Amino acid sequence: MIAENIKNIEENIEKCCFRLGRTRKSVRLIAVSKTFGADSVKQAVDAGISDFGENYVQELIEKRKTLLDLPIRWHFIGHLQSNKVKYIAEWISMIHSVDSEKLAQEINRQAQKYNKTIDVLVEVNTSEEATKFGVKPEKAVEFIKTISLLPSLSLKGLMTIGPFSNDKDESRKSFSLLRSIFEEVNRLGITREPLTELSMGMTHDYETAMEEGATIVRIGTAIFGRRVKKQ
Ligand SMILES: *Cc1c(COP(=O)(O)O)cnc(C)c1O
Repeated sequence: MIAENIKNIEENIEKCCFRLGRTRKSVRLIAVSKTFGADSVKQAVDAGISDFGENYVQELIEKRKTLLDLPIRWHFIGHLQSNKVKYIAEWISMIHSVDSEKLAQEINRQAQKYNKTIDVLVEVNTSEEATKFGVKPEKAVEFIKTISLLPSLSLKGLMTIGPFSNDKDESRKSFSLLRSIFEEVNRLGITREPLTELSMGMTHDYETAMEEGATIVRIGTAIFGRRVKKQ
């Protein structure tokens, strides 16, 4: 089931890339495994997935522990409390949800402790309907200016959660807003390295997100099925 779902998504992403004149490599598929067990993750690994997204620190830690022998890159995509950063800092591949100075400073501090840099994205709230987290679009540039001074934080790009609705125009508005902030940041040259990543698009809106330039799509339901717990 999971293998077949992944095959379908892969085909669809490839088709979408072709239609948009993009290479398959220009977009990374993250399988969002929250609420699903290690066995499901393992099936997805066997089907060729190596990037996984999780929203809850405790759940992530436990799942990772049982899957240590598999070549998995873990992405933290949910709201992250500063006091939890220390549990994931050593091995997390990317944190997609930086939305406060306090959190950015703590990630920087933990990265220094491990003598590494941590890849992060700034979460922007482009649709207040969908989430209460993320920096406001009009505050994003200023926020990025501030946190890009932190030496052990490697800011790669921006993330957003689009509206819950199936209205493509609404989704597009959200994603094109994120892309315009991304372009503005790069035009201003306020980060050490130009931003390269736009993490946007979930099961119901990833094609629209790709049309608007997504470089990372985060897909859960279409791979693992409906979540029983509401999260
Ligand atoms: C749960 C979640 C996803 C995946 O959503 P689906 O609709 O199941 O594809 C993507 N991004 C974030 C931040 C999530 O919390």
